[in-house]
Amino acid sequence: MTLRIAALDKEACLPRKCQLQCINFCPVNRMDSECIVLGDEGKAVISEELCTGCGICIKKCPFDAITIVNLAKELGTDKVHQYGINEFRLYRLPILRRGTVAGLVGRNGVGKSTAINILAGNLKPNLGNWDSQPDWDQIIDTFQTPEIREHFQKIAASELRISIKPQAVYQIPQVWKGDGLSMLKEVDERGNREDLVSRLNLEESIHKKLSDLSGGELQRLAVAAAACKDADFYFFDEPSSYNDVYQRLSVTGVITELAAEGKFVLLVEHDLTLLDYVSDTVQILFGEPGAYGVVSSPMSSRVGLNVLLDGYLPRENIRFRDHPVKFEIYAPLDEEMDTPVVARYPNLVKRYKDFTLKVTGGELKQGQVMGILGANAIGKTTFLKMLGGVEKPSEGEVEIKAKISYKPQYLSSDYEGDVRSLLSAASGGSLESGLVQSEIVNPLSLNKLFDKNVASLSGGELQKVAVSACLLTDAEVYFLDEPSAFIDVEDRISLAKVIQKFVRSRGRSAMIVDHDVQLIDIVSDSLMIFSGTPSVEGLASNPLSKNTGMDIFLKQLGVTYRRDIDTGRPRVNKPGSKLDKKQKEIGRYYYLDKVELKE
Ligand code: ADP
Ligand code: ADP
Ligand code: MG
Repeated sequence: MTLRIAALDKEACLPRKCQLQCINFCPVNRMDSECIVLGDEGKAVISEELCTGCGICIKKCPFDAITIVNLAKELGTDKVHQYGINEFRLYRLPILRRGTVAGLVGRNGVGKSTAINILAGNLKPNLGNWDSQPDWDQIIDTFQTPEIREHFQKIAASELRISIKPQAVYQIPQVWKGDGLSMLKEVDERGNREDLVSRLNLEESIHKKLSDLSGGELQRLAVAAAACKDADFYFFDEPSSYNDVYQRLSVTGVITELAAEGKFVLLVEHDLTLLDYVSDTVQILFGEPGAYGVVSSPMSSRVGLNVLLDGYLPRENIRFRDHPVKFEIYAPLDEEMDTPVVARYPNLVKRYKDFTLKVTGGELKQGQVMGILGANAIGKTTFLKMLGGVEKPSEGEVEIKAKISYKPQYLSSDYEGDVRSLLSAASGGSLESGLVQSEIVNPLSLNKLFDKNVASLSGGELQKVAVSACLLTDAEVYFLDEPSAFIDVEDRISLAKVIQKFVRSRGRSAMIVDHDVQLIDIVSDSLMIFSGTPSVEGLASNPLSKNTGMDIFLKQLGVTYRRDIDTGRPRVNKPGSKLDKKQKEIGRYYYLDKVELKE
């Protein structure tokens, strides 16, 4: 016996635009039973009791709106919440322990925010009975885990003191009209707001109205607000979005300190390097986005992230990706590529009123992926715009003949039409070709998005579509400005592989700005490092080998990396550890050579 789940993407289900194929072709319906019917809302309703799991409706639905999955029966009793019939359901909950940071990682739409909302007491779990909400006694009775029972007892008795940094920080200005300082004063129960303001580099930002803050400023302000409340449980839902690596590290410091003070901390994060660095334990939320999510048992952060990359949960005996992600264990060779140069630029200067960018000239070769690392407001976008001819340099001249396709940092969704027509137009009609399908459409699961309106896409979906549209546009050089923003952990990995394969196999070139160090590590052959003072002066290096570039960048951060022995993935060393000290001594911040590793 298995447990059958039928989930419907209500937005995608459009009975007015189809011939009700799901209802007409369902073999159970044809036997005069009502397995799939049109419900009161005018959308398909699927009976999980009658469904035989034949999969015909899934194939027949022209909009890919139906998901049917068979799960291990044991999960049945572990259902924590279900939003409604054929709607998303969550199985099991993350376990929190005093004085530790529990990391939670998983795809978008797999229930991370749902889990947080339940543990924070904002959403009363219904154990799957969406039509008759159980009371707290019933809820507490169903859980075996002592930590979770105790947790819900406290919520029921209103004794739980919680603090949340919500995922959607951009909604905060709608509810707080004043400046950042007045907001922090309002919530500061621990009297540590000044310390937080200085550590999160918010000195200037707190005097601005919330609606005038940049995404990164707003994110760090929200982290400060969450951390200055006096609570037992602290929840941080994706605190690295919009922040650069320096800012991510400062946020990390705040989070680990809360745990060190004996608080319970839960962190949801897609930046794996960061998650690994801060978390004591990691739990993976696996499942099918929009249909169901299951929280794995806790693992140490090292094991948890290795499992994540491997795509297989040994304790649950579940494979959630059909291939493992591999890293090169040893340093790449410092060899020059011997392919032709496609773009060359001289030393450049750009002066704005308050900001100056100085660029050391360089070149881009065929088949080369250049990663670009640097703080926010240091001139990375300005550099790409100068090469792309969008901004004119104040000194130096850009003469690039190669055709450039550019994905900007800030995306707009005011395209009228669906994803298929947008991508089809970008690709000049090659969208249906086998090569495009296997190189881009399948690895990024774009099929599911084809019939959605561009205007209705989530942040992560819009980003995937924008990156795909950029790659599908016929060009010699591809510029991608922050492609990982809003994208979940699985898509980050797929995206890195897609970009790299695409550029190499087609002999194109790319420049990629991003703050996810692991993504840059997977994708790039060479690096440009931006240094200087944000908002004042930026200095862009010439293209460097990956070794040299990473060493320079990590030295600025004061962070060293080691390689995980089993998977070769980069891991941040604990500051002051033996390896950290040794690597700083010999000036090797990123890679250790074979010989050095053996010592
Ligand atoms: P994550 O944080 O992992 O991206 P969420 O917990 O936000 O995932 O959402 C999981 C799934 O539950 C999504 O498919 C989402 O559409 C659905 N969902 C979230 N909130 C509701 C709600 N109030 N009613 C119905 N479905 C919801
Ligand atoms: P990054 O991409 O590294 O975050 P940008 O290149 O977007 O940085 O911006 C660098 C600096 O230049 C910032 O301080 C920004 O405010 C400033 N800047 C960018 N564009 C303009 C402009 N058109 N006019 C004046 N200042 C600008
Ligand atoms: Mg979420």
